[in-house]
Amino acid sequence: MRRLDKTVRSWGVKLDFEFSEEQKMFKQAIRDFAEKEISPLVDEAERTATFPLQLFPKMGELGYLCPRYPPEYGGAGMGKIGDCIMVEEVAYVNVGIAAGTMVTGGIGTSAIYVRGNEEQKQKYLVPAIKGQKIAAFGLTEPNAGSDAAAIETTAVKKNGKYVINGTKIFITNGTTCDFVCVAAYTDKSKGAGRGVSLFIVEKDTPGFKRSKLHKFCSRPGETAELTFEDCAVPEENLIGEEGRGFPYIMEVLYGGRISHASRSLGLARAAYDAALKYAQERVQFGQPIAKFQTNTFKLARMAMDLEAARWLIYYAAWLYDQNQPHVKEAAMAKLFASEVATRITTETMQIYGGYGLTEDSIAQRYFRDARLATITEGTSEIQQLVISREIGIR
Ligand SMILES: Cc1cc2nc3c(=O)[nH]c(=O)nc-3n(C[C@H](O)[C@H](O)[C@H](O)COP(=O)(O)OP(=O)(O)OC[C@H]3O[C@@H](n4cnc5c(N)ncnc54)[C@H](O)[C@@H]3O)c2cc1C
Repeated sequence: MRRLDKTVRSWGVKLDFEFSEEQKMFKQAIRDFAEKEISPLVDEAERTATFPLQLFPKMGELGYLCPRYPPEYGGAGMGKIGDCIMVEEVAYVNVGIAAGTMVTGGIGTSAIYVRGNEEQKQKYLVPAIKGQKIAAFGLTEPNAGSDAAAIETTAVKKNGKYVINGTKIFITNGTTCDFVCVAAYTDKSKGAGRGVSLFIVEKDTPGFKRSKLHKFCSRPGETAELTFEDCAVPEENLIGEEGRGFPYIMEVLYGGRISHASRSLGLARAAYDAALKYAQERVQFGQPIAKFQTNTFKLARMAMDLEAARWLIYYAAWLYDQNQPHVKEAAMAKLFASEVATRITTETMQIYGGYGLTEDSIAQRYFRDARLATITEGTSEIQQLVISREIGIR
């Protein structure tokens, strides 16, 4: 052991597998909040497929909504790790509610924080962090999902305004948002890399309409189709430089994948806890079903999957916070955690037997909610493409 310590030191390796005291306290505080303040709202939110909007200001006031941002903007200064802790704990209670909070602190505001000017930060980021304004991010279109460069939305500059025309689909917080960061071509001839720009569109802008989409999963996480018909926004609403929107979008998505992975982790953890409890309580052939080796092994593999997903996610978040390259790790975390959520929720259904299939069983909700994990914010196939490129296959 002493020899190993010496070797490790001589390599200069520093491995620290612990959250800091501050992170541990934050995790506990979010967990308590989720249990006391979010859990009681879940049944109604699931039944009506609506986000409980009162949570935004409540979480914002406590600094729980967007923990990653620095205190000068009202955040908790806890970086991406803080965001992941929040999303994981909220998702443990409900995936749809985690979607709304995750987008506000993540893809809905990220470009404004990183590329926006001070005025935009004060006008949009600060109220979003406080839960006074709800944010959304509009990239996907009916003909442009995985292939984001294929977007057809355009923004034409006229008399000091950008006039936006196009349709966005599957936009989280689309029905409830106060503003949305929208991707549009300002010059198609320059291609995506130089021709796409990002704009902030406020909900009351003439020509901006939204309609709710109905999903069988993540029901409180409201999703909408947005249309822009001659929707004119002031030129001050351009984020960063004109034509640089695509690289900004990629930055947003790389970070978003890490938070998305932590949402899958929260869901998978909840399903595992439910399966473990049920398997220890349900008796068949005179003993708890957890004792049958087939179930014991299922639960052992679930525990292992959770542990592996946790390390991938928090390592990627740590890299992000250190400003170190994290594209590969973020894609790996997203891919792995979403598949873990799928596996664990499927096995949970099996452990619940027939009871899992009833409408009021928690197992069926976990099973439904896991279905979006491998699709949203970049499908599993796209994550594999990203990883392939990162390991040198072009
Ligand atoms: C609940 C929900 C919330 C969402 N929230 C937002 C949001 O807030 N903002 C936003 O902009 N978007 C959002 N999206 C959109 C989401 O990111 C897209 O659905 C996703 O990127 C996939 O696009 P698509 O659905 O058009 O599928 P497609 O791109 O049509 O893909 C269909 C299938 O083909 C596969 N495929 C496509 N291209 C390739 C390829 N090159 N190689 C191998 N396989 C490929 C895919 O992996 C998939 O299996 C949301 C979607 C959902 C369902």
